[in-house]
Amino acid sequence: MIIVLKPNITKKAEKEVLSEIRKLGYKPHVMRGVARTVIGAIGDEQTHHTLESLMILEQVESVTPIQKRHKLVSREAHPTDSTITLDNGTVIGGKEIVIMAGPCSVESESQLMTCAESVAASGAKVLRGGAYKPRTSPYEFQGLGEKGLKLLAKARKATGLPVITELLSENQATMVADYADILQIGTRNAQNFQLLIAAAKTGRPVLLKRGLSMRFKEWLLAGEYILANENANLMFCERGIRTFEDYTRNTLDLSAIPIMKQESHCPFVIDPSQGCGRADLVVSMCKGSVAMGADALLVEVHPNPAEAWSDGAQQITLEGFTKLMEDLKPFASAAGRSL
Ligand code: PEP
Ligand code: MN
Repeated sequence: MIIVLKPNITKKAEKEVLSEIRKLGYKPHVMRGVARTVIGAIGDEQTHHTLESLMILEQVESVTPIQKRHKLVSREAHPTDSTITLDNGTVIGGKEIVIMAGPCSVESESQLMTCAESVAASGAKVLRGGAYKPRTSPYEFQGLGEKGLKLLAKARKATGLPVITELLSENQATMVADYADILQIGTRNAQNFQLLIAAAKTGRPVLLKRGLSMRFKEWLLAGEYILANENANLMFCERGIRTFEDYTRNTLDLSAIPIMKQESHCPFVIDPSQGCGRADLVVSMCKGSVAMGADALLVEVHPNPAEAWSDGAQQITLEGFTKLMEDLKPFASAAGRSL
């Protein structure tokens, strides 16, 4: 930690700060400049009290950590890109851009099977589908629950596609993990730390969406919960944040791609569907994401979006998805990737 003192403070006031630092278990190193004194405090933050509390002393101007608070997810801990290998051999974070596609919600066997078979034929490598839906209103469709998970398992068997699905609470973790290949933590639960721990402990790969108003630092620390609980298979997923703009449902923050790639070695995913809330913008956002270095895309596809039980406005059709896969090819090869 670096502690900067206010200008021109007395020796006595400086001594009080030094004694406070020692009391908190750190060793102070004083650097006296012309107008100001800077103190480096050496110690282990994991075993000692954090020094941020020093800010309450009137002689202290700032307290800045030297080390990043996110350790395991950071590039410093793991300079090369990490990859996640699913049971069927699909690698997320490698040369191939992995497309995860399927409906927002699992609605029925015929809806899911039609969708799964079509997206598989068009080149999707993972099937998405919500069985537990985190709906804003309690009067909206809440998902088919375990019945939906069973349908996802059936669709996996029929198509060979691994499945990603969301879990909403800790007590669902082992059950959802029995059916799913990847556990999705939704935006509304991105800082539900007990849920993150429970998901990590299942041993399944975890896709962590960005919280609606989450800063990168908070997101990285939420991801840290997965790695700190002995699960190395974490991917982050940008899905749009809440801004003043209401032309789109959310503002899809594509700057997240280079920022999170700089900060973290974990694979990075873009969800253009929740990101804009509009089917007509999905293709453009996917092209941009692929060009900017996303490792995977999570795209909502529905056989009949007009009749979808959730998120109808943002789901693309089966034909739209087939065309999307074609349209993305030149962008993938320009980025040195395959599809
Ligand atoms: C979804 O993927 O359908 C979903 C609800 O995602 P989010 O948590 O990003 O809103
Ligand atoms: Mn959705």
